[in-house]
Amino acid sequence: TERNREGYAPLYNSFEQLYSRYVYRRVRHCFNQPICSTPAAEVTINERYTDDYNWTFKFTDRTRRCINLGSYNYLGFAEPTGPRADAAAVASRRYGLALASPRAELGSCLLHKELEETTARFLGVEATIVFGMGFATNSLGLPGLLGPGTLALSDENNHASLILGLRQARATVRVFRHNDLAHLERIARAAIAERRWTKIVIVLEGVYSMEGSIVPLQGVVALKKRLGLQLYLDEAHSVGALGARARGVTDYCGVDPTDIDVLMGTFTKSFGAAGGYIAGSAKLIRWIRAHGHAHTYAHAMSPPMAAQVLAAMRALCTPQGLRRVRTLRDNTHYFRRRLREMGVVTYGHEDSPVVPMMVFTLSNISATLERLTARGVAAVGVGFPATPLYKSRLRFCLSAAHSREQLDTCLAAIQEVVEELGLQYSRRR
Ligand code: PMP
Repeated sequence: TERNREGYAPLYNSFEQLYSRYVYRRVRHCFNQPICSTPAAEVTINERYTDDYNWTFKFTDRTRRCINLGSYNYLGFAEPTGPRADAAAVASRRYGLALASPRAELGSCLLHKELEETTARFLGVEATIVFGMGFATNSLGLPGLLGPGTLALSDENNHASLILGLRQARATVRVFRHNDLAHLERIARAAIAERRWTKIVIVLEGVYSMEGSIVPLQGVVALKKRLGLQLYLDEAHSVGALGARARGVTDYCGVDPTDIDVLMGTFTKSFGAAGGYIAGSAKLIRWIRAHGHAHTYAHAMSPPMAAQVLAAMRALCTPQGLRRVRTLRDNTHYFRRRLREMGVVTYGHEDSPVVPMMVFTLSNISATLERLTARGVAAVGVGFPATPLYKSRLRFCLSAAHSREQLDTCLAAIQEVVEELGLQYSRRR
């Protein structure tokens, strides 16, 4: 077997290998950027020195304070101080940073129970179960729910954790075009006619993290009811960030959350913490507690994390908390409008706080990111394989914590970079 530079057998097929060796090398210094502050509205990044050829880098004592358009801090709950940070500190004094066990084995504390009950009430469902990692909630939860003989109808832009979960489940997977309900219905009807599936489950997301698009949930729910299918919905980017009551995409689309068979989400984006949950009927949650590997075999959510989420969720049930959701929406609308006026191509729904700005080629990722960092703006670039090969983009994440002045400073920097590199693609004929 061919071995790569570090001596490991290659993980990828040959094209991806070729890509990671020869093309990705040119942009990899833009990734793994170390930070030395909280990921709040401003962030301090370490301007490390990269030895590009050998995949190594050294930390330097040069740091740069940047306005942060890169972290998932939609509601601004990633603050280092204040009532939520205090709640986390109290929990860490009482329980420690971690419980040294999975939930099923001495790893459950009262905070977990409180969080599960509060999340169920917040979402308007019967029960929830929480996990230490959002990624594992999908990748280890799906195999507990689906198996050989089940068919998953999966959106083409689904997150890696969903794709991995479906593979681990050994379910048959058929992919439908992104947010295309007519295509979904066609393949669902064809599958029903085959009469060989024990269960057919639609698997999709609320807000798509690379596209900034929002699922047409009312149509999906009507379709699943019409055809007798089940629905697994990943709310990682939408819970907290969408809907007048911050309850996520069900709230935003006016859908009854109990119509979603499996409602999954994370605490990593809107709640300033980490971890995931699955919400649904009490029967479903009992099943996952017994059959989900993450509950039995992986470490429980850390208690300070649970305390932070509880405090953020409670804050979201107050008028001041809900104001954050409106500020996020206003910031998003303002930022998207100003980007459009610049002539750049943006993707996604007007209300989505994930704002992809297309730079198309891979080399533009490093060119834009280097120039933005030099101007005091921290952002994230994404390219293949997270996107199609020539659809590289910067992925801006808006936050309720951004002030208008901060957004204006960022937009001025982006404008300079866009003009310098000629990225006004929407003005080209
Ligand atoms: N689902 C989706 C749609 C995501 O975007 C992500 C992470 N970005 C995850 C799951 C995994 O969540 P976590 O980062 O909390 O592990």
